[in-house]
Amino acid sequence: MILDDLLTDDAPGVAKLTDPDAGQMPPCPCYGCAKRVPGAMPGWHLRKGPAPLLGARQRAAQLGPPDVRRWEFLEHGDHGDGRELLIPTWVDHPYRLRLRDGRWRYVAEPYELDAAAAADLAHLAANGYEVTVTAWQARHYPGHTLAVSITPEATR
Ligand SMILES: [Zn+2]
Repeated sequence: MILDDLLTDDAPGVAKLTDPDAGQMPPCPCYGCAKRVPGAMPGWHLRKGPAPLLGARQRAAQLGPPDVRRWEFLEHGDHGDGRELLIPTWVDHPYRLRLRDGRWRYVAEPYELDAAAAADLAHLAANGYEVTVTAWQARHYPGHTLAVSITPEATR
């Protein structure tokens, strides 16, 4: 373990990123999988990161219940303001990964992305986030889910 840490230059609390070519296939840390993964947490933050932005966007669009769900457990142990947060359904199997520079990368793994989801992602990209969608980084159900990675360009 120590040797592995030295080789990969991992700092404590930094998440191992998925890299199939290097044989790195870390487990999924989402609530459904309930695995403890170093440097990773299930859910997203409620008051920072993409969740408040998406909630405000949903509210502004006045979308109804069929298109969104109230997410009460995005952030473990937080049951305050989160009850009022409206989160689009593509935010499925959410988790977050601590990067080497201290930023959190927010990941959702939906089974599909529709046009509304693409518009949400464009909205995040226009508001200071790097957004990528990949199949090869999926952890929850590789081959079926897509890894939507949302990383703040600056500290947020
Ligand atoms: Zn999972």
